[in-house]
Amino acid sequence: MIEEMDFENRIVSPEYNYTDSDTEVSLRPKTLDEYIGQDKVKDALTVYIKAAKMRKESLDHCLLYGPPGLGKTTLAGIIAKEMGVNLRVTSGPAIEKQGDLLAILTSLNEGDVLFIDEIHRLSRNIEEVLYPAMEDFSLDIILGKGPSARSIRLDVPHFTLIGATTRSGQLTAPLRDRFGVLLRLEMYTPEQLAKIVIRSSNILGIEIDTEGALEIASRSRGTPRIANRLLRRVRDIAQVEFDGKITLDVARNALSRFEIDELGLDDFDRKMLSVIVNNYGGGPVGLETLSAAVGEESVTIEDVYEPYLIQIGFLARTPRGRCVTSAAYDHLGIKPNSDSAQTSLL
Ligand code: ADP
Repeated sequence: MIEEMDFENRIVSPEYNYTDSDTEVSLRPKTLDEYIGQDKVKDALTVYIKAAKMRKESLDHCLLYGPPGLGKTTLAGIIAKEMGVNLRVTSGPAIEKQGDLLAILTSLNEGDVLFIDEIHRLSRNIEEVLYPAMEDFSLDIILGKGPSARSIRLDVPHFTLIGATTRSGQLTAPLRDRFGVLLRLEMYTPEQLAKIVIRSSNILGIEIDTEGALEIASRSRGTPRIANRLLRRVRDIAQVEFDGKITLDVARNALSRFEIDELGLDDFDRKMLSVIVNNYGGGPVGLETLSAAVGEESVTIEDVYEPYLIQIGFLARTPRGRCVTSAAYDHLGIKPNSDSAQTSLL
């Protein structure tokens, strides 16, 4: 078991935390042109939005999937703005009763965008209300109880549902099938993240040069939310200990103090990889076993920590469990043990 860590405040966590609250809204791009990267998604949306506008119809329901912090909520806002309609934001866990969803749906205006974050966490009885609403823009409401109960049909405005999920595999098939557009968000390249860092610096009035931006970008785990968070933290050090400008040296100095290495790995990543290497011969190790060994929920490991480690080729998911790759051994400065079961998989 590794020692307790402050996961909530982990600086490289892609999940939203309270330190993001003061700037997240102001840094959100408002148009597709301002939205950096994700070219495939943008190209597809540009066509669908144009077509829907030409036909004067609402946009098809869209499902956005990918790890946290990649811009799903931002994209929902942009879609609403480009369509010239209102955006309503809610999340799967926030809709507890059928009545909650009925209240939201009946308060929408024609064409509005309803954004449901973490849509895979909707309960089944709520999904059932959503099906006819998505398909026929109607609601089946049961009035009364027992033999005297009767069902009435109520129309709702033609709205666009935008669902966001970190795990599309957990969506039920009937729900997934009702989305006309499925869009997968990819992790960003350091160059794209550097553009985001420069854009955010302009908005926040931070002086930064290209090398400084690229340094922050390459340690941001492919995730804009992390890039913006690191930018704010580096700015604090630049102002207090330097002349305020973020250069390569200033960025390096600050980031090494946060113990974020040049690939964006922090203490937790290094410990998780080391646990697999030291306790399980490099793997394969099952997710549940790993979760107990590092003291973190398996869902969090899967959604938050693993995607980046897999993306950079440090971790592999095999049918028998997780394995650390030779690239990770190199990075950790450990020599693979030739006797381990895992070396044969590398
Ligand atoms: P998600 O909903 O996927 O968790 P968000 O849409 O909340 O992610 O994005 C997190 C932050 O990252 C936003 O505040 C925004 O400033 C920034 N961001 C995300 N995507 C982009 C992008 N393509 N271009 C510029 N900034 C972005």
